[in-house]
Amino acid sequence: VPESADAVLDGLDPEQRAVATTLHGPVCVLAGAGTGKTRAITHRIAYGVRAGILQPASVLAVTFTNRAAGEMRGRLRQLGAGGVQARTFHSAALRQLQYFWPRAVGGEVPRLLERKIQLVAESAARCRFRLDRNELRDATSEIEWAKVTQTVPADYPAAVAKSLRDAPRDPAEISQIYAMYEQLKRDRAVIDFEDVLLLTVGILQDRPDIADQIRRQYQHFVVDEYQDVSPLQQRLLELWLGDRDSLCVVGDASQTIYSFTGATPDHLLSFRTRHPSATVVKLVRDYRSTPQVVHLANGLLSQARGRAAEHRLELVSQRESGPEPSYEEYPDEPAEAEGTARRIRELIDTGVPAGEIAVLYRVNAQSEVYEQALADAGVPYQLRGAERFFERQEVREAGVALRGAARAGGNDSLLDSADDLPGQVRAVLSTQGWSTEPPAGSGAVRDRWESLAALVRLAEDFARARSGATLADLVAELDERAAAQHAPTVQGVTLASMHAAKGLEWDAVFVVGLTEGMMPITYAKTDEQIEEERRLLYVGVTRARFHLSLSWALSRSPGGRASRRPTRFLNGLRPGSAAAGPRGTAGAGGAERGSRRKRRGPALCRVCGKTLTDAGEMKLMRCEDCPSDMDEGLYERLREWRSAQARGLGQPAYCV
Ligand code: ATP
Ligand code: MG
Repeated sequence: VPESADAVLDGLDPEQRAVATTLHGPVCVLAGAGTGKTRAITHRIAYGVRAGILQPASVLAVTFTNRAAGEMRGRLRQLGAGGVQARTFHSAALRQLQYFWPRAVGGEVPRLLERKIQLVAESAARCRFRLDRNELRDATSEIEWAKVTQTVPADYPAAVAKSLRDAPRDPAEISQIYAMYEQLKRDRAVIDFEDVLLLTVGILQDRPDIADQIRRQYQHFVVDEYQDVSPLQQRLLELWLGDRDSLCVVGDASQTIYSFTGATPDHLLSFRTRHPSATVVKLVRDYRSTPQVVHLANGLLSQARGRAAEHRLELVSQRESGPEPSYEEYPDEPAEAEGTARRIRELIDTGVPAGEIAVLYRVNAQSEVYEQALADAGVPYQLRGAERFFERQEVREAGVALRGAARAGGNDSLLDSADDLPGQVRAVLSTQGWSTEPPAGSGAVRDRWESLAALVRLAEDFARARSGATLADLVAELDERAAAQHAPTVQGVTLASMHAAKGLEWDAVFVVGLTEGMMPITYAKTDEQIEEERRLLYVGVTRARFHLSLSWALSRSPGGRASRRPTRFLNGLRPGSAAAGPRGTAGAGGAERGSRRKRRGPALCRVCGKTLTDAGEMKLMRCEDCPSDMDEGLYERLREWRSAQARGLGQPAYCV
């Protein structure tokens, strides 16, 4: 913990310091990847708290994922500013909703609706409309869109006309189905994902007493990744603020990657218009990546088009020179995965920790072949982010077993009293079927093993830090960490989608599967969608601190026809490739799309990665079983659930 408030400012450059010390009035930081936006706002909160200007409990910091929120809380603790709320919009709203529901509405907080499409089907039937499966899915996503844009059923037809969306059916019908759906939810006391934000917004609007109470509690707001805020989240933020202006937002329009869910960089880009007194700070020094990585990132952005691209900022690397990014072409996908695993093995052998390496892909279905290859190469990996560690079934079961053993104490024959604490933990976990050697297989079995191995490491660290600590002490520590969502780091190679990698960084990053059809993904058709794909690749490559590898495979399986081509986004950037055409590369790609469509890879669900077969699904870019609710946490549980099901492990207890 730094000794004085000023010490919190050490290690910030002048612009970052300006952010950290401007504690009053609206502040907006516009800056590219790796320029220290997240660092600047974290230090700003810590500085304010340490200087006695901000009360920790009066600050609400909003981040994009639970993992980012956890990291920020950890960092704030290190800087001597524990007790600050760092949450996602959804989790902050849910907490307020649960707290105020009894007073605002009365009774129990409604359950979260599980099978939304079923309720939409029932609503349609009650309205006497006959909708086939595709139409039902369309109706569902129209209702979701209406809700995040805060459009009530009666206004839906007009809003659709204004938005230039393709309404899938007669908008008047959708509007009736939507109204019925809302009615049925009320009758059954269930709420859907959008309702969590909508109801919180409603309570804040209708109940000045509750709004006052929340505003008395939270006086300062900080929002990270502000370029991806939805209109509904923006509304909630405005209600939290009331007529005050202690708001600090940071974002990078070039990293807008969730506009398919209604998020928009407009709030970021028009911040100064809405807050004329705002202090606007731009950061251009890139502290994360080598000049080589930064050069490629700048190159990608220089080809970008559209509104976000008008606001791009050229990055200037502050780091020493490193290796050139490598571009690897493989004959097929298994060869790509094996080659990647081999290179990862080499990095680990030269001393790069596995936890400092990531493999990033476009859709989660791409992970399987990498899991297999890494397991074969004896490389530990983790599929999941660290945020819900304590909710994993195996970790909860282990907790129960450890608690039982701690209670049974010395008279339990299971525990040899001569063992030190980690030995006892291993003994208890062995009753759960865990052994010190990792299992040979990959997938969920391996993932489960890694979670328990992380628990053992946690016990080892704990025993080192607190000599003489008992199993009961450890159980208490676990409870505390679970309550704070302070998960231990799982020390494997991270496998993640580029969407999920947002805001994070690793020493070595392998961006894989970079073929046309995957990047941009087949279902990205309009120029806007193609631009969002390009930004996604920008997010992917800017996760690398030092080593960056970009790879693709010419065919799907060994012996297949080499019909695939590397992504257009690297044209003119990777050695030996022709430069982009006059309209950027999107124009050339457009022509190519028509003639090559049939030979491309299959369309995949954007949530779970399943191959899509019917036209309706392809249009929505999402399979029937997946919700379109924008919450990475929810998606992740769903993926876990699906992968457990696919492996015959049944449904985890904590499935949404
Ligand atoms: P992204 O847009 O990807 O979220 P960001 O702008 O939030 O990136 P940070 O994650 O805050 O960037 O910082 C990137 C890296 O640079 C981190 O490792 C951070 O600790 C480091 N860093 C930031 N500012 C400085 C600085 N002034 N001196 C040294 N290192 C810094
Ligand atoms: Mg950040």
